[in-house]
Amino acid sequence: MNSARKSQGIGFTSQRTRDRMVERLREKGIRDETVLAAMGAVPRHLFVDEALASRAYEDTALPIGFEQTISQPFVVALMIAALRQGRADGDEKRSLGKVLEIGTGCGYQAAVLAQVAKEVYSIERIQGLHERARANLRPMRIGNLRLAYGDGSEGLPEAAPFDSIISAAAAAELPPALKTQLAVGGRLIAPVGVQDQVLLLVERTATGFSERRLDAVRFVPLRAGKQ
Ligand code: SAH
Repeated sequence: MNSARKSQGIGFTSQRTRDRMVERLREKGIRDETVLAAMGAVPRHLFVDEALASRAYEDTALPIGFEQTISQPFVVALMIAALRQGRADGDEKRSLGKVLEIGTGCGYQAAVLAQVAKEVYSIERIQGLHERARANLRPMRIGNLRLAYGDGSEGLPEAAPFDSIISAAAAAELPPALKTQLAVGGRLIAPVGVQDQVLLLVERTATGFSERRLDAVRFVPLRAGKQ
């Protein structure tokens, strides 16, 4: 089956299957309709191996090779909703502004982010995944998304500052570079911790930073350097 046919969808790859995933996200407490619409629009089955495509709309993480995973849909929605909360000034549908994602993986969350942001930069440290994400995303022709290959624990200084930063990998402690690349009024969300991880939400104000710890989560580790 070619990818055009797959994305139009029959059976497990159809819009109806995706709509059911969105309903489950709603039942689990995601209330942000803009986020739910973005989750309903991105064909997650095109970001996993064909052998796993039938499970693409289950609410679980799945392997994508290189010992990494595609994030659980609920966690993607939860993090994006936390970044958006209370920031719907002006262009409600693009309220994340300029976004940095650390950990492109297969490119799924980057595609979701591109629906609710003005511009998205996504960085990945494993070259094989960076290239796979590029191949996965190319047919979707997303104009406001740029992929970078490198160590995201240093952020992406050449594109900073960012209105929103989101990490898909957990550091023991938040890399300091990320906070400095946040614009005033900007928000960052990242899993932190080793065994026991939580989501850390940081907001940059005119005078400093405010931090809040949210839900317990389980992410792959943030690693230094390129591979
Ligand atoms: N965003 C993906 C999730 C991928 S898992 C999705 O949509 O499902 C997290 C990714 O973070 C892995 O691909 C891993 O290689 C990457 N990663 C870990 N440390 C990193 C770092 N320092 N810089 C960039 N990417 C990193």
